[in-house]
Amino acid sequence: METTDMEKREEKSLNFLERIIEDDLANGRVPNNTIVTRFPPEPNGYLHLGHVKSICLNFGLAEKYGGRCHLRLDDTNPEKEDMEYIESIQRDIKWLGFDWGDYLYHASDYYDQLYKIAVNLIKEGKAYVDSLTPEQVREYRGTLTSPGRNSPDRDRPVEENLRLFEEMREGKHPEGKYVLRAKLDMASPNLNMRDPSLYRIKFASHPRTGDKWCIYPMYDYTHPISDAIEGITHSICTLEFEDHRPAYDWATSIDGIEHTPHQYEFARLNINYMLMSKRKLLNLVKLGIVTGWDDPRMPTITGIRRRGYSPESLRDFVSRVGVAKVESVVDYNLLEFCAREDLNKRALRYMAVINPLKVVITNYPEDKEEWFDAQDNPEDPQSGTHPVPFSRELYIEQEDFMEEPIKGYHRLYPGNEIRLKHSYYITCNEVIKDAEGSIVEVHVTYDPESRGGTTPDGRKVRGTSHWVSAKHGIDAEIRLYDKLFSTEYPGEATGNYLDDINPESLVVLKHCKLEPALKDAKPGQYLQFMRTGYFVADSVDHTSENPVFNRTVTLKDSWSKKAKKQK
Ligand code: ATP
Ligand code: MG
Repeated sequence: METTDMEKREEKSLNFLERIIEDDLANGRVPNNTIVTRFPPEPNGYLHLGHVKSICLNFGLAEKYGGRCHLRLDDTNPEKEDMEYIESIQRDIKWLGFDWGDYLYHASDYYDQLYKIAVNLIKEGKAYVDSLTPEQVREYRGTLTSPGRNSPDRDRPVEENLRLFEEMREGKHPEGKYVLRAKLDMASPNLNMRDPSLYRIKFASHPRTGDKWCIYPMYDYTHPISDAIEGITHSICTLEFEDHRPAYDWATSIDGIEHTPHQYEFARLNINYMLMSKRKLLNLVKLGIVTGWDDPRMPTITGIRRRGYSPESLRDFVSRVGVAKVESVVDYNLLEFCAREDLNKRALRYMAVINPLKVVITNYPEDKEEWFDAQDNPEDPQSGTHPVPFSRELYIEQEDFMEEPIKGYHRLYPGNEIRLKHSYYITCNEVIKDAEGSIVEVHVTYDPESRGGTTPDGRKVRGTSHWVSAKHGIDAEIRLYDKLFSTEYPGEATGNYLDDINPESLVVLKHCKLEPALKDAKPGQYLQFMRTGYFVADSVDHTSENPVFNRTVTLKDSWSKKAKKQK
């Protein structure tokens, strides 16, 4: 009884792909009992969060079942593809923590084989060279409700097809003049089966094969055959390829192809307030709306890394989202929640004042300084401490002072006492203003007996402020990032996502004051600036002379509150 329950629970916790794989393994349907998956990006842009899901899934399944996962660059559109993208893809996958080992492939590795297979198809009367124009091809294809018509070239003799295909390869015909098509079924209810194109003419230099080819194979022909050649067992893709599965099965059953992989589809990752399409992301880059693919507001792996997310938090995010067969939209807050969960454990705590207000402690000696020990991370008992300097002149946040406090305000105001983190209690006595009446500085006195945050009389204060010693602190630029789009579904209202760019997605603050230990911060070190958020030194612009920090995410967590409320 108990075991059955256990088994049931276990089965329930498997996603549908894991169930398929376990079933295939248990029934001897997997050659050599070795699962082989692949991640097949087209190198026409940088990888984004949607790809993170696919990477974690493909590499994760291979890892879980002791198989392997290939990285295959699906490079069949030479005009849009670039070495920069090929390199970024590899860098990003490794950063996420996955490794394809010796199994790096390119669809272009198979161009010779694909060509030979096409020639064989022609010889067997299963493919023909078509001279219909692209418009005519569309017209002849028919619609979802009406069958297509055969092209007049469909019965072109084999010899002529062979000659024309050879001439296409030799560059004797201009782009668009001919395509090679499979002879399948123009009346098929599936449009992808109505004589799909296998090859088109394209006079474009390829990032890897250069000018060797001027005909390039189509996706529906290349992808399944590449899977077969590599011995892929489970070819996992997103739902939009479901309609292509019959074409996939046709291509993998062509005579002479020995291994038969199978295609499985899952729901793509969508996140509100974000765009998840390389084409649209490229457009943002081209239009200069962002500074590049690595702009910290981009949903690209490189952007998110620069923003300060860890690979662990992205993997956690993807695993919380899960794998399903139904499309859904994931809440952006879940992504930030995962960042906070992870950064809370690992980020080192520092004090930084982003909107500085000068505070002078009138009863603190001018030339005196003290160094307090600040714990690097209170969440981590193993963590050490670092010294923080204290002196007569400090900066606190402007928002931590109000000349005329509103009701419920417990921070600094004339006559009120607060605690300065790690150090002393101070009381505000005087507000100094300039000729225009703007506050220049605030004068306070400190209680020498409150060192370390308690007093002999045990009196309590309600506010605690972070601070930076004016004499010791360093100046820095801080970049506060927010969502790139201000609406949940960019472009929904007007049809143009550019209408929904959030004008406040980046706020740059100069002359922020940071405690001096941050002088040595390096990109890749996860930081928390107390009370303001998680930060990271910018991997592009930060130097120790001109420090620049990016806010990864605020400390406030609206996701878990929302989740609790819903419960
Ligand atoms: P885009 O539309 O952004 O260009 P794509 O699907 O064209 O994406 P590919 O480079 O062809 O990008 O994708 C590589 C793999 O990543 C494919 O298997 C694809 O199914 C998967 N993938 C792409 N976008 C997502 C997504 N949003 N969620 C999950 N997987 C995705
Ligand atoms: Mg694509």
